[in-house]
Amino acid sequence: MSIPENLTDILARIAVARKAAIAPAPSTKLVAVSKTVAEDGIREALAGGQRLFGENRVQEAQAKFPQLKTDYPDLELHLIGPLQSNKVKEAVALFDVIQTLDRVKLADALAAERDKSGKCPRLLVQVNTGEEPQKAGVLPRETADLVAYARKLDLPVQGLMCIPPAEDDAAPHFALLLKLAREQGLENLSMGMSGDFELAVKFGASHVRVGSAIFGARDYATTT
Ligand SMILES: *Cc1c(COP(=O)(O)O)cnc(C)c1O
Repeated sequence: MSIPENLTDILARIAVARKAAIAPAPSTKLVAVSKTVAEDGIREALAGGQRLFGENRVQEAQAKFPQLKTDYPDLELHLIGPLQSNKVKEAVALFDVIQTLDRVKLADALAAERDKSGKCPRLLVQVNTGEEPQKAGVLPRETADLVAYARKLDLPVQGLMCIPPAEDDAAPHFALLLKLAREQGLENLSMGMSGDFELAVKFGASHVRVGSAIFGARDYATTT
């Protein structure tokens, strides 16, 4: 199937899953994860009507997206990979949403850059629901403190994001993220990938992040 056909198929599956949802979000948006995808593939998705994209490396996104954003002013770009403090300036300039706020130091850097540039992307806090030592994200029990800290800095925190451990049943992780978001009064939940986005929708995902089911298998393995 072509990229536009894959998009149509996934949007239809999201709509079906929303009808069976335990806790449907007011809307569920498809973030097309275009890491490792060349510009041609992204342009095919744009021609198919897709406007929301996710990238997990600042540098790769800087190489691909400035021209695309000029050509498609309504394109919305989300950072879904870890952000180093020394890349905050570039990330704030390019991304509309940063889904990976996961520590106090990064909140400080984002607030400082906001004060300098007058600009701040909308933010999601990444939660390490599986408490995996090698994975980014704040621990579930520390989520409330980080959200409170970011709010004190007047940062626009709008939701939570998680990447469950690959080997786990994702359902308890999605349920935990939903519970944490409700406790914090946060509306947006970014969860679910190619293999489990319908399950995530059932648990209230407002954003699903789908890569290979749209663009095909990636040439090389990428972590995170
Ligand atoms: C790569 C990636 C995805 C998409 O994964 P697929 O299995 O290709 O859909 C989603 N979220 C994050 C954070 C990623 O890095």
